[in-house]
Amino acid sequence: MSFLDLPLMLKLKFKMIKSDKKIIIAIDGYSSSGKSTLAKEIAQLLNYKYIDSGAMYRAVTLFALRNNLINPKNHAVDIVKLKDSINQIHINFKYNSLKNNHDTYLNNENIEEEIREMNVSNNVSFISKISFIRQKMVRIQQDMGKEKGIVMDGRDIGTVVFPNAELKIFMNAKAEVRAERRYLELKEKNINVSYEEILENVKKRDHIDETRDESPLKKAFDSVDLDNSNLNKEEQLEHIIGLVKERIK
Ligand code: C5P
Repeated sequence: MSFLDLPLMLKLKFKMIKSDKKIIIAIDGYSSSGKSTLAKEIAQLLNYKYIDSGAMYRAVTLFALRNNLINPKNHAVDIVKLKDSINQIHINFKYNSLKNNHDTYLNNENIEEEIREMNVSNNVSFISKISFIRQKMVRIQQDMGKEKGIVMDGRDIGTVVFPNAELKIFMNAKAEVRAERRYLELKEKNINVSYEEILENVKKRDHIDETRDESPLKKAFDSVDLDNSNLNKEEQLEHIIGLVKERIK
């Protein structure tokens, strides 16, 4: 849904937010809990920058897969070689007006579609738990937020990347609801994958992300819970508008 598709009432409510104060909005939560969609819409309404930090870990994973630095069967990572090649990994985002999306680029190649495929999803949690990878990503992310006016989603944004973010949201929904959403999303893109495979991937990634030593997925003590199992997009946005207003007045 783009800004133009949003109901008039919501647009008006956002328009009424008149403030020059720019804040950082950190959205963390479980896989496929709708973080990116919501984060993108909030960024659009506020005219903020939007960064999908998960895409950065996916980009590193794609690099590792392409260069045989991770074994897709047993997920064993060649740590030494990956460390040696870390400076060859350049990730950035460019706006794609056709899709109204900030596409992810790896060394100047648009990899937005490829990083959403199951091969990457099945391996990303094994790359994202590596400490030197996280350090590099966090440094880049903090740099992007220097000027504030940013919405970033991920797993450790409110806890590690921006512990002082003015607004932190922690999103969740039942695993089955999340898998169903992801299934429909991938089906729309003609990516052939079963619901069961996605459900398994979502549960497995959650488990690895929650139990890893390095910056595990956890709710920041000062974040606001948002379980969207039974909330539609408008209700979620409406809720967030209220929270944003309180913080920028
Ligand atoms: O958000 P998305 O599901 O695309 O993230 C893919 C993976 O990247 C997650 O399962 C997690 O392992 C990793 N990730 C992370 N820290 C972030 C964002 C994503 O570890 N801030």
